[in-house]
Amino acid sequence: MLKKTENYWDVLSSTDFVFEENCWQTCESVCCEPVVPGGVLRFPQTWVFYMFEEFKYFEKKEQIPLNKSKHKELSVELGNGVRVGGLCNQCNHQGRCKDKMTLPLFCKLCPFLPVMDIDGKFHDIELLNLIDLTVEQMNFAPRCSIVGQKEKYLNMWKNSPGLLRLLSYPYTLFHLLAAKITLDNYKKTLLNNPKILKSSSAAFWSSWELELITGRLFDKEQLRIDISKLCDEFTEEHGRFPSFDSF
Ligand code: SF4
Ligand code: SF4
Repeated sequence: MLKKTENYWDVLSSTDFVFEENCWQTCESVCCEPVVPGGVLRFPQTWVFYMFEEFKYFEKKEQIPLNKSKHKELSVELGNGVRVGGLCNQCNHQGRCKDKMTLPLFCKLCPFLPVMDIDGKFHDIELLNLIDLTVEQMNFAPRCSIVGQKEKYLNMWKNSPGLLRLLSYPYTLFHLLAAKITLDNYKKTLLNNPKILKSSSAAFWSSWELELITGRLFDKEQLRIDISKLCDEFTEEHGRFPSFDSF
């Protein structure tokens, strides 16, 4: 548990969740340079994501290095002005970011999302990066050199109670649960997308890019319903809506 004198965000931001140091050197950081093989758009950068309260913390510390004013909101609107999600910005560090900035949580977790329940109990790990997930769902050869070592990482997480305790802090836990819902929504939508399924392997990534940027790889209405349900369950379990200040 955190000591009373400790600030949660100080501890979280200074904690390393990456078990494989400098893995980008062996794989050329494909998770942080998502130029998809055969894609036509060649995304020049990847995206870095901050939970709303995490962003406020980094902003106060003047540690938002990437075009501070250009952060875009990535959130789900639940009605009555309630939004859950965070802020994201394009990142062009291509994996070579550690000595340039303090990483937000979701960058530190990549490539695996810890799967926890609403009580904060740890169950499993799943892929976090959309390209890795797509590769897995379509049975393509993996690009990330770590994803094939799931058992090893699962054991590392199981043997890291301190890290899991930090992640079970209600505000963060809520976002991990919401991320799991979002990724499940993506997987289901991907596997129900006729254009993607019919595309030849040569045309797969260009058609994937098009579907992604036109918003057809998420079922937004279902996502809103599922996140809203999570909010209700979370409020019931923890007694409050998952805004950080209330904990
Ligand atoms: S997480 Fe995977 S894809 Fe990303 S830099 Fe490490 S090995 Fe490469
Ligand atoms: S900050 Fe680092 S880990 Fe995060 S997206 Fe940028 S290069 Fe990748």
